[in-house]
Amino acid sequence: MINKVRPHPTQNELLLFEASSPGKKGYQLPPLDVPAVDPAAALGAGNARAQIEGFPEVSEVDVIRHFTRLSTWNYAIDLGLYPLGSCTMKYNPRINETAARVDGLAWAHPYQPDSLSQGAMKVMAALEQCLLEITGMDAVTLQPAAGAHGEFTGILLARAYLEARGNPRKKILVPDSAHGTNPATAHMAGYAVENVPSNERGMVDTETLLRVVNEDVAAMMVTNPNTLGVFEQNIVDVARILHDKGALLYMDGANMNALAGISRPGEFGVDVMHLNLHKTFSTPHGGGGPGSGPVAVKSHLEPYLPLPRLQCADGNWSWGYDRPDSIGRVRAFYGNFGVLVRALAYIMAHGGDGLKRATLDALLNANYIRKQLEPYYELAYDEPSMHECVFSDARQAKRGVDTMTIAKRLIDYGFHPYTVAFPLIVKGSLMIEPTETESKRELDLFVEAMISIAKEVEENPDLVKSAPHSTRTPRVDEVTAARKPVVQWKRSVL
Ligand SMILES: *Cc1c(COP(=O)(O)O)cnc(C)c1O
Repeated sequence: MINKVRPHPTQNELLLFEASSPGKKGYQLPPLDVPAVDPAAALGAGNARAQIEGFPEVSEVDVIRHFTRLSTWNYAIDLGLYPLGSCTMKYNPRINETAARVDGLAWAHPYQPDSLSQGAMKVMAALEQCLLEITGMDAVTLQPAAGAHGEFTGILLARAYLEARGNPRKKILVPDSAHGTNPATAHMAGYAVENVPSNERGMVDTETLLRVVNEDVAAMMVTNPNTLGVFEQNIVDVARILHDKGALLYMDGANMNALAGISRPGEFGVDVMHLNLHKTFSTPHGGGGPGSGPVAVKSHLEPYLPLPRLQCADGNWSWGYDRPDSIGRVRAFYGNFGVLVRALAYIMAHGGDGLKRATLDALLNANYIRKQLEPYYELAYDEPSMHECVFSDARQAKRGVDTMTIAKRLIDYGFHPYTVAFPLIVKGSLMIEPTETESKRELDLFVEAMISIAKEVEENPDLVKSAPHSTRTPRVDEVTAARKPVVQWKRSVL
């Protein structure tokens, strides 16, 4: 088993402060051949710093090795498959980085006058056009800084729209398969949340919906395809049922990687939706890095979009603030510009055909994994999978091994774990999203690892239960690790 494990560095790393030894330096200067001066006298007392207390004294090689080793500890998409379902951890093409580092874009300052920002504004306008084309919606704001922020903005728009018609209404419907940010958003926007159970096919049930929609419902938030990786086949009816009662359809577009270039939410009745540029349109994400959650709306919600809005007159771009119905700003300045540049670079490098191809490949990859693993893991819902597939640990649980334990064992095989225990409607779920960027070879390695673990569970469950074996720290108590993390290696441990 152990020889299948990819090599990993030992993680016994001292802090630089601990590696410090008095007098060590990262440089060597020739003896002074001019008269020595007192820095405080030469520079002025305020500009000269006395000794820095406790500053590490280390050599150049100490520093280089320290940071190089640290850089290898994180599992990264540049290292291998990152099958974290719902997150669309795709490879981030380097052309995006080249575009984002173009001097005029990288150094653009939001306080620059419009006349000196025309290029940056054109980039944003071009991205808006692309997103409208991809979604089939009428107007879009690039301001929100992440998916959840987009949801919040979108629901505020729905509220403003309904309020203008006389009644903001009381509640938001959320299917039980929803991402946790959906009910959180509804709550933060001042709505009560009503959970709508999915049917036996894992979809929103139109019969149930008919029963629960009334004039108190402001909107329903639907992820499509949903978090089971299943396309909501009744989405047109869902929209109609909501609209008949004056409610709106919000689409959580985090899963657009399954639709881009093929199907447009604007055509199936969506009133307002967000996109996760950092997922579908490839910006490195995770760990709280910058994201972008543009919100696209149909024309009836356009007057409420956050200000300022990009506008063009006689070929000149400017920011328009004259929007009396706007919900106001949702963020300082105009959006996470670097992410916007990357998204546009990604979209333009692919073109329409390329985006469609990427979507089809994402679907193919997810279905390849599903077919290969079906004999070994219990499929949660036997509906066609889109860009991700969801299994449960039902078979392994009989041997006392749950999804979290399988995920830990996967680390020993050199892969980042899949998403554990989400969506909540699947007990012990394993949610796997390979994305289009993986080759068949990488998928086969992953499948082989998963099958091998399934066999271990049958033959030697204790080996799996004690995983991970290849990491510096054995399995930790997750709650304590999250609440009281110990991030410093103690000499006394060895
Ligand atoms: C990722 C995700 C979100 C939240 O997006 P963030 O950018 O992480 O705030 C919302 N809904 C779904 C379905 C997601 O996958």
